[in-house]
Amino acid sequence: MERIKVLVSGACGRMGQEVIKAVLQDPELQLVGAVDRVQQGKDIGEIVGIDHLGVTISDNLTEAFKVTTPQVMVDFSTPASVMENTRLAIKTGVYGVIGTTGISPEDLDELRALVIAHQGHLLVAPNFAIGALLMMRFAAVASKYFPSVEIIELHHDRKLDAPSGTAIKTAEMILDSRKNEGQGVIGEEKIKGVRGGEMGGIHLHSIRLPGLIAHQEVIFGGEGQTLTIRHDSMSRESFMPGVVLGIKRVMELPGLIYGLDQILFN
Ligand code: NAD
Repeated sequence: MERIKVLVSGACGRMGQEVIKAVLQDPELQLVGAVDRVQQGKDIGEIVGIDHLGVTISDNLTEAFKVTTPQVMVDFSTPASVMENTRLAIKTGVYGVIGTTGISPEDLDELRALVIAHQGHLLVAPNFAIGALLMMRFAAVASKYFPSVEIIELHHDRKLDAPSGTAIKTAEMILDSRKNEGQGVIGEEKIKGVRGGEMGGIHLHSIRLPGLIAHQEVIFGGEGQTLTIRHDSMSRESFMPGVVLGIKRVMELPGLIYGLDQILFN
């Protein structure tokens, strides 16, 4: 059986290193490339704390595509670099599994058009943890019965973007499942921003603290009752079954898929 050739972009980062290990552990996948802005020229195996793998870290994605000829690029880089990396992958004919957050709706439109033009395959998933996908799905169901909702997302203090991609996607799913209720009274903010950001009438709150990984609460309020749906990623391993599934499924699915839920639940 031919293994799927995978290149990891952002390979030396917290998520990238987990992806490297997950790819190495799966018999259907073959790690061929590692790209990052740091640790150039070193062997990625040494960075992730396993044996020498013969896969050298490159800081040049164009060059790495040429030399390693991957079928799939997995990107966990930075909000500032993900669009450039993804455009390049699509134009080169490399399929993409994109975990990096910070991709705006306008960016998604651009990627969708590019994927169609190049007959590409692209999965953009703000959250690869199955528990988080279930949390979002349950929230969409609950929103039909509880019109008032606020979202609190909690992440480690080195996360570069806020709110999280998961919080945005949750708000989008709730807004798709019920109309904009224009809920609650904002009142006077004695400290600017204290009621959080707002998306279609839903308030979002972002907490950043060391010790956290990725967590979210969706709190619904109704007459005399509340309902809280919470998900916690305790380690970055929680994302890996979703990433591996994404790599395998993106091989078969043309076009742009936004959200792993589109693969898991359809
Ligand atoms: P990190 O800062 O630990 O790692 C990012 C890596 O990207 C670094 O090693 C950096 O040197 C590298 N990098 C910078 N510019 C680059 C470029 N142009 N090309 C390639 N690599 C480049 O960050 P992290 O915690 O690993 O998170 C990475 C991204 O993944 C963030 O956007 C984060 O929000 C997202 N994330 C997504 C999920 C999900 O399930 N979709 C889960 C966790 C994190």
